[in-house]
Amino acid sequence: MKVFNKSFTQQEPIPQKGIDAALEVMKSGRLHRYNTLPGEKGEVDLLELEFAEYLGVPYCLACASGGYAIHIAMRAAGLQPGDKVLSNAFTLAPVPGAIHNSGGEPVFVDVTDDYCIDLDDLELKARESGAKFLLLSHMRGHLADMDRIIAICNQYDLFLIEDCAHTMGASWNGVKSGTFGDVACFSAQTYKHINSGEGGLLTTKHADVMAKAVMYSGSYMLFANHHKAPPVEAFDDARYETPNYSGRMDNLRAAILRPQLADLETQCKRWNERYDAVNDIIANCSSIHLPNRPEAEVFVGSSIQFSLPTFTPEQITKVIAVCEERGVMLKWFGNAVPMGYTSRYDSWKYIKDMPSLPTTEAILATLLDMRIPLTFTLEDCQLIANIIVDVVEECF
Ligand SMILES: *Cc1c(COP(=O)(O)O)cnc(C)c1O
Repeated sequence: MKVFNKSFTQQEPIPQKGIDAALEVMKSGRLHRYNTLPGEKGEVDLLELEFAEYLGVPYCLACASGGYAIHIAMRAAGLQPGDKVLSNAFTLAPVPGAIHNSGGEPVFVDVTDDYCIDLDDLELKARESGAKFLLLSHMRGHLADMDRIIAICNQYDLFLIEDCAHTMGASWNGVKSGTFGDVACFSAQTYKHINSGEGGLLTTKHADVMAKAVMYSGSYMLFANHHKAPPVEAFDDARYETPNYSGRMDNLRAAILRPQLADLETQCKRWNERYDAVNDIIANCSSIHLPNRPEAEVFVGSSIQFSLPTFTPEQITKVIAVCEERGVMLKWFGNAVPMGYTSRYDSWKYIKDMPSLPTTEAILATLLDMRIPLTFTLEDCQLIANIIVDVVEECF
């Protein structure tokens, strides 16, 4: 019996260029983003310039984490305590956490069996709730129909914040994920598409939002030193009215990220080759449901999701256990106890008056997830996929 023996949490090393640049920063001692010589652009400045250019947006702010970026994005968007925020019920814990942190009240929208936000439910809840914000989480890299999302946002006057933690490098109809909304937030945490351990990037086209975001991130009144923020006049009010919620990025992290950003396109291709290698094999197993992914969606296959719609919780528990014995680590969004990153909306008990969402619950009940790190070869991916199919058929 074949067994797989590599780690599902092992990412690739930081590129040598990033290591060299990080060493330079450490030798200089100037790790703080505002600790630059006259006329010098620090690593954080350069990262912001390069990321804004990559995405084609006017403003970019590097910060401490993706969740932090979402939190200040909502505050900078003008969210007031108690304001409703539409968001995906199927998402990662930092998303409801950021809504809570900003004082908003989430209105969770159902997930479809293609693992995207349910747009009929979104429309219904936009109408019924009167919410003025949509925090759209492209959870696990699945892009919903962005044309319809934009139409809904226009119709209900929703301020759109995109959570692009899993869609850095992805696009819809040739338009980059993160350029549809009013604000977009990215993560550079180890398991996303660029890795500095922790880190976040906030982008926007709105000068007033960016001015506030810069102040929130803790600019010590050095906002004039930013290269991808609006001119100083935009800070006339924001500088007095915006508290400092310290959460800057430092030059060391930015130094590590810049070469990875330059490689992003190549890395995304490599992820997709691996995704396809797994997908092509498990697609032959009739018990496995795979999401429909429209041609318009160019995604980044850094993880794969599939369902076992006819399986009971006991069968799924067995699939996971037997896969694990054979070295294949699956995560399950249907587990009653949240584990790893699979926490479910009903485990966020700090949220008041959480309605039950039976549709979402039914979909998450059979939804499995697997990371695909780039340290896996294509042969590894084929072996893993064959193990999954074997085990699913054995447990059927
Ligand atoms: C990782 C992640 C975030 C934020 O990540 P941080 O760990 O705070 O950088 C936000 N949303 C989703 C869906 C994520 O997976």
